[in-house]
Amino acid sequence: MKKKEIEQISERLISKPKLVWDAIDKKEKDKIFGFDREYKNFLGTAKTEREAVNAISEIARKNGFSVNPPGKHPVKLLKTFQEKSIALSASGKKPITEGINLIVSHLDSPRLDLKQNPLYEEVDLAFMKTHYYGGIKKFQWLTRPLAIHGKIIRSDGSPLNIIVGEDDTDPVFTVADILPHLARKVQYDKKVSDAFVGEKLNLMVGSIPFGNKDTKERFKLAILNLLHERFGLVEEDFISAELEVVPAGTPRDVGWDRGLTGAYGHDDRSCVFTSLKAIIDIENPQKTALVLFVDKEEIGSDGATGAKSRFLESILADLMVAHGQKPLYHDIHKLLMNSRGLSADVAGALDPDFQDVHEKRNAARLGYGICLTKFTGSGGKYGASDANAEYVGWLRNLFNKKKVVWQTGELGKVDEGGGGTVAKFLALYGLQIIDCGPPILSMHSPFEIAHKGDIYMTYKGYRAFLES
Ligand code: MN
Ligand code: MN
Repeated sequence: MKKKEIEQISERLISKPKLVWDAIDKKEKDKIFGFDREYKNFLGTAKTEREAVNAISEIARKNGFSVNPPGKHPVKLLKTFQEKSIALSASGKKPITEGINLIVSHLDSPRLDLKQNPLYEEVDLAFMKTHYYGGIKKFQWLTRPLAIHGKIIRSDGSPLNIIVGEDDTDPVFTVADILPHLARKVQYDKKVSDAFVGEKLNLMVGSIPFGNKDTKERFKLAILNLLHERFGLVEEDFISAELEVVPAGTPRDVGWDRGLTGAYGHDDRSCVFTSLKAIIDIENPQKTALVLFVDKEEIGSDGATGAKSRFLESILADLMVAHGQKPLYHDIHKLLMNSRGLSADVAGALDPDFQDVHEKRNAARLGYGICLTKFTGSGGKYGASDANAEYVGWLRNLFNKKKVVWQTGELGKVDEGGGGTVAKFLALYGLQIIDCGPPILSMHSPFEIAHKGDIYMTYKGYRAFLES
């Protein structure tokens, strides 16, 4: 056999993931950087689930989505719930009863929440107690500038939204760490998991006293007095507050060539933004498109605003009405069983310095496009939602046809650890669903890394899905 012939056979038979940069032309390369600029803007303004809901709502309204859409085609519905989850839908050519194309992503990211009774003083400094939210490596949150974002309901019932630490003229907050000279017993000699404890993640918030030497708790009082003068707050107001401590600062290009984006919250706002843009940009979708953004994924998807809630059923009832159908329970469930879904969440990228925790033939890599994760779970696939061969077959053919650069990935080696996301809670309805999103490095850290080509291919993949 000739060399050329062998090469052709190899080309035809062997599966080779493509690097985004090798698979696109100059025009698409420009699109990647244009898309990234919009994405960075979104990340910078949507650092909490509430801010994300408000940002999505604003963008969607500008693009014709409304709470009470006029009856004419296409119906573009927007629905928010408790300012923490939101859904957007655009109708397709076929009747809604034939099923929908659903993308679900999550708005929450790991962070430090302020406790309900946060403020205290110690060694003539004022602090706020925090309770971490989601799976963080605690030491990553020390000695860095942090901002406070959130909502407080004051004693008269009035709401107060605050963001402190993002403007260049704002103060920031921080969690201090022990100096290396004295860290031997309390940190170096311990296991990492024991060396950093939740109750030491205390936020430094003040240092100038109030009153005179005889004033009790004068450092704490100084902060309360300042907050009272500025916002009309009293200490009890913290009890009815949701204040989230997040890394201060804006998303940045990473690398000499600016090919990567470093930011807080790629997990999962990369999927949030790409699915938002996808539903805004779709043209002539066959089926009704529904993009759902939920809260609480990082702590198990429980609660009224998590993926386990009945929000989806409620939206579908609204959609049935908007499409001139009776919202019968049985019909909604039949519709869901005829539907296709993407559980839009990030994947763990092959880590260059810890390649041993991955099984390289089945690990997602930065730069190789949107990642399909057929199943998640841990150990023997425990707790997994496992997409069937038929569905994966349909999706990969769609991506190939639409020139979406894609890859497949498993979280890590079989016995290494594991995890999961919202797919299994939606699979309960009997719809076809698979995890699908960009790979990320330094996941759950204050500065996660994404590849601009992957983010763009995620948008392209979601859009192709919604248009199918
Ligand atoms: Mn996630
Ligand atoms: Mn996560």
